[in-house]
Amino acid sequence: MSEFAKQMAGQSQNDEPFYLPTANEIALFEHAWKNQLPVLIKGPTGSGKTRFISYMAAQLGRPLYTVSCHDDLTSADLVGRHLIGDGSTYWVDGPLTRAVREGGICYLDEVVEARKDTTVVLHPLSDDRRILPIERTGEELEAPPEFMLVISYNPGYQNLLKGMKPSTRQRFVSMRFDYPPFEQEQQIVMQEGGVDEFNAKRLVSLGHSLRKLKEHDLEESASTRLLVYTATLIRSGFEPAEACRAAMIEPLTDDEETVEALMEVVYATY
Ligand code: ADP
Repeated sequence: MSEFAKQMAGQSQNDEPFYLPTANEIALFEHAWKNQLPVLIKGPTGSGKTRFISYMAAQLGRPLYTVSCHDDLTSADLVGRHLIGDGSTYWVDGPLTRAVREGGICYLDEVVEARKDTTVVLHPLSDDRRILPIERTGEELEAPPEFMLVISYNPGYQNLLKGMKPSTRQRFVSMRFDYPPFEQEQQIVMQEGGVDEFNAKRLVSLGHSLRKLKEHDLEESASTRLLVYTATLIRSGFEPAEACRAAMIEPLTDDEETVEALMEVVYATY
């Protein structure tokens, strides 16, 4: 935990997840938090966004509430709802409300998946009002300085149309994530996948070769997460080329011909 975070949070935390920074993202996040600015992280799946937020929450000593957004998510799922029990109704806070009350970090993953009417509840929280009106109970919560709203999305092809409204996007400090540079990714694969330097290097080289292949109409390319999964299978003793097929190639496409074409790249390596 940095000196800065100790001062700000006034508490210590030892169970930090492993996170290897790739640029100035830690400093930027700390400054945003200190100045009560919400953060938007954009980047492909498996590039370390979720790991980064867990790491920062531990660094800052704040509780973290993560919500994976989807198109059925309602504002009640975020804010809370009345439930019925023992013949009466009682109120239960949703994750957003809990984060506001506790001065925690609320992380909404893949926020463009959520319906627009759901994300409207974020507006008064993400500008300088920093309030959460809870219509159903008539409460209006003022977010404490420690509260932070973080959203992420993947600007990949499928979200081009959905996008994010400028009125939402312009309320957030934005950070762009991508797969880490070669040496950092190699370290991550070693640490997370438990393989040696030689195997990690080979996997990262393979990942780079796959990422360069633009002619195959893939939605996404081999992410750091897929490299880590492949390393995990290899470390456990599974045959390397087959580990690549199962954990790196098949997750990318359902098209058999494309799988075989990508496996040629694997066979050239293994
Ligand atoms: P995202 O939220 O962008 O989909 P994750 O944060 O879940 O991706 O990252 C996927 C996996 O990749 C993590 O579980 C971790 O093993 C690894 N990873 C990616 N980037 C980093 C990093 N900078 N430091 C440590 N691990 C990383």
